[in-house]
Amino acid sequence: MNTSVYRMQNDKIDRAALVECAKAIKNGGTVAFPTETVYGLGANAFDGDACAKIFAAKRRPPEKALILHLADGIDPASFAVVNDAYYKLKAAYPIGPLTFVLPLKAKLPSVVTAGGTTVAFRFPENAIAREFINLCGMPIAAPSANISGKEPPKTAVPVISDFSGIIDCIIDGGECGIGTPSTIISLVGEPVILREGAIPGSEVLRCLK
Ligand code: AMP
Ligand code: MG
Repeated sequence: MNTSVYRMQNDKIDRAALVECAKAIKNGGTVAFPTETVYGLGANAFDGDACAKIFAAKRRPPEKALILHLADGIDPASFAVVNDAYYKLKAAYPIGPLTFVLPLKAKLPSVVTAGGTTVAFRFPENAIAREFINLCGMPIAAPSANISGKEPPKTAVPVISDFSGIIDCIIDGGECGIGTPSTIISLVGEPVILREGAIPGSEVLRCLK
């Protein structure tokens, strides 16, 4: 496969290039893109075959579910059972490195949730990621853009060397500001921090007190 690499900056977005990347997603392809945490390797979350390509490219174990990346035009209530705790945290952290886990409502391909009854999603802050997701118009399932077991990438350099010829497009948006993965909180029952990350879990839990 011929992988297209598009270079741009957060304050100088190449919209035409993002339209091409969104086309690749709509055609069932895979696109690596920058976020404020690390680079993600994305596909249409509603397309099981497309999401299976992420697992193949990363050599990711199938039991490890994917995080959905949303933009503000995409309503999580279309696939998750949202609750008061979610609305409270969404008001405190409207965009950024906080991933919510909620009960799954509508059917997503089982490959995305690793066959589970919950779903993880977040709203990236990175301007390129937001514009890209908005142009796709659907949730983008995206784990970190590294071969399983390797470090999550903070620049496009390792993404290009690992995935050239394997995925459709790579958006090189320079260095990720944070470089640490998102904090994951489960709001399925009592709120529980499932993964410590870019925002201290204690700070997130305090918001719910
Ligand atoms: P990565 O983006 O590569 O760090 O991988 C996403 C992380 O989110 C993995 O650690 C998954 O186990 C976790 N994850 C995804 N979906 C869920 C879920 N429904 N419940 C709990 N953890 C999840
Ligand atoms: Mg990872």
